[in-house]
Amino acid sequence: MDTVQQATTSPVQEAWNKRPLIISGPCSAETEEQVLATAQRLAATGKVNMLRAGIWKPRTKPGLFEGIGAKGLPWLQQAKKLTGLPVAVEVATAKQVQDALTFDVDVLWIGARTTVNPFSVQEVADALRGVDVPVLIKNPINPDLELWAGAVERVARAGIKNIGLIHRGFSSYGNTEYRNAPMWHLAIEMKLRHPDMPVINDPSHICGRRDILLEVMQKAVDLDYDGLMIESHIDPDNAWSDAKQQVTPEVLAEMLDTIIWRKEDIESEALHAALEKLRQKINHLDDELLQILAQRMKIAEQIGEYKKDNNITILQTNRWNEILEKAFQKGEKNGLSHEFLTRYFDAVHMESINHQKKIMDA
Ligand code: PEP
Ligand code: MN
Repeated sequence: MDTVQQATTSPVQEAWNKRPLIISGPCSAETEEQVLATAQRLAATGKVNMLRAGIWKPRTKPGLFEGIGAKGLPWLQQAKKLTGLPVAVEVATAKQVQDALTFDVDVLWIGARTTVNPFSVQEVADALRGVDVPVLIKNPINPDLELWAGAVERVARAGIKNIGLIHRGFSSYGNTEYRNAPMWHLAIEMKLRHPDMPVINDPSHICGRRDILLEVMQKAVDLDYDGLMIESHIDPDNAWSDAKQQVTPEVLAEMLDTIIWRKEDIESEALHAALEKLRQKINHLDDELLQILAQRMKIAEQIGEYKKDNNITILQTNRWNEILEKAFQKGEKNGLSHEFLTRYFDAVHMESINHQKKIMDA
C-alpha cells in the first residue's frame, strides 16, 4: 500500500511529468556552499523543477577538475531537503550508480561521453536492474543515432520505465559557432522513434557560451521539446568547469521569462482549420516534389544508358560543380540555406548515382 502510494505521488514522478521540465544547476558540484546557494536561488525563481550537478566529471584531458566525487553527494541531499527539488546526477560506472542511489539521487543521467561506449552503458544498465529510478540519456558526442538508440535499448532492457533523452549536440573538429553542433534533425528523428519519451534540450553544451543560449532555447521550445537542462552557477565566471556557458539562477529565470512558449495543440477551431489548409498545401507540394524527383531519377537512368553505351564514367565532377553553383545562387536568392542546399543536393546526387550504377551494372 505504502509503495503504491509513493509510486503515484512521489515528488520525483511529479517533477518528471512537468512540462516544460526545467532542470538546472551547476556543471559541477564544487563546494557545499556553492551547491546549497545555487539550489536555493534556483528554487527561489519558482521556474525550476529539478536540480542538476555533476559529481563525477568526464574531462577530455587529465589535470582538469574531475569532479568532487562521492563527497558531494550529501550536499545534494541537503539541497533537496532545503528546496524540495529532486536531484539529478551523471553516472558512468556501476559504482557511481550505487553511490548516487545510496545518497537518494532521484534521477540519473548518462553523459555524452558514456553513451558512445556500449560497455559503459551496459555496466550502468546492469547496475540499474531492479531499481526504480528515471534515467536520462544524452546523445553520444558523435552524430550516430543508432548508438543513442542502442543506449536507450540497453537501459530499457534493464527494466527502467522512465527514460528521457537529452539533446546536447555533436562535437566536430575545429572552432565552430557552437561548442557542439545541434544537428536538430537527429534529435527530431529520435523524438519520432520514441514518441513517449520526454526529449530535453541542453543548450548549455550545444552553445558553450552564454550569448546564444536564448536562441537555442527558443528553437527547442518551438520544436516542442519537453524540457530544458541548463547549467547555472552562483558565480559563472569562476566555475571550476564550463565557466563560459553557465549563467546565474536569476539570469536563467529572465531567459525563461523571455522565451515564447508556443502550444503544440491549438484550441481554437478557426485557427485549426487555417492550419489544416496550410498542411494540405504542404502535402500537395510534397507529393509533387516526390513525383518530380522520381522523374529526375528516370532521366538519370537514361543518362546511365548513354554513359554505358559510350563508356563514360558516372561521376563527372565539372558537371556536378556547375549544377551546385547554379543551385546555390538560385536557392539562396529564394531563401534556402546553404546548409540545406548542400545536404539536399548531396542526397539527390547519391540517389542519382545509384540509379545510374544500376543501369551500368545491368
Ligand atoms: C554535463 O552535463 O556537464 C556534461 C558533462 O555534459 P555532456 O555529457 O553533454 O558532455
Ligand atoms: Mn558541463
